[in-house]
Amino acid sequence: AIEARNAMFSFGKTPALRGASIAVDAGEILAIMGPSGSGKSTLLHCLAGILVPDSGEILFGGARVDSMSETERSSLRRDRFGFVFQFGQLVPELTAAENVALPLLLNGVRRTEALRKAHGWFERLGLDGMEQRRSGELSGGQAQRVALARGLVAGPEVLFADEPTGALDSLTGEQVMDLLVAAAREQGTTVILVTHEPRVAAYADREVIVRDGRVNAPDRVAS
Ligand code: ATP
Ligand code: MG
Repeated sequence: AIEARNAMFSFGKTPALRGASIAVDAGEILAIMGPSGSGKSTLLHCLAGILVPDSGEILFGGARVDSMSETERSSLRRDRFGFVFQFGQLVPELTAAENVALPLLLNGVRRTEALRKAHGWFERLGLDGMEQRRSGELSGGQAQRVALARGLVAGPEVLFADEPTGALDSLTGEQVMDLLVAAAREQGTTVILVTHEPRVAAYADREVIVRDGRVNAPDRVAS
């Protein structure tokens, strides 16, 4: 469903991707692992149409994302993709419910309807009663569940998650992953997840390792 073919990307003179190739099936949950600075986030951003590779191709449903205009890529991100980042990145001025409703409001859904849909996610993610809190009044795990709800509320085809449990202790991280995987499976959402934690990667259907800007299959210990 989503694919990078020989993607190269440099930040000025710093090469971040040196011919990265990966194909992710629709409905698949993929974990991207690898050392710090190896190019994981850059690969995620190229797949998501946030960055455009200097060369190589990004394909989504057969369409060339890398040759789209900025306007087309931003519509793609808004209409068909969802995002969750390491530090939730909730809008502090908005309530938790408004944060979750935000992607729907950006898609032109009316406010009452958007908030009604948002409320459904609070119940499901164990966040009952948190709707009116601001992000500063939530624990790390609660804020991350709110960010997860925001990433999924519009029913994206692909959810991009960069270290979604990175700021959480391991138990809280596993609770967030349980919820993420259950919701993604139920909606048939493809998930591309960057993590450095093997326990988090274990939730995925498949794991790849990025090293020096290229994608490898994981090393397997001979058994
Ligand atoms: P981490 O696990 O630490 O998040 P990563 O695998 O996600 O690392 P990237 O963020 O993709 O790594 O970075 C790949 C390379 O690109 C690194 O050498 C990094 O220093 C460089 N880089 C990343 N972002 C920028 C930027 N905005 N400007 C300049 N160089 C950057
Ligand atoms: Mg990163």
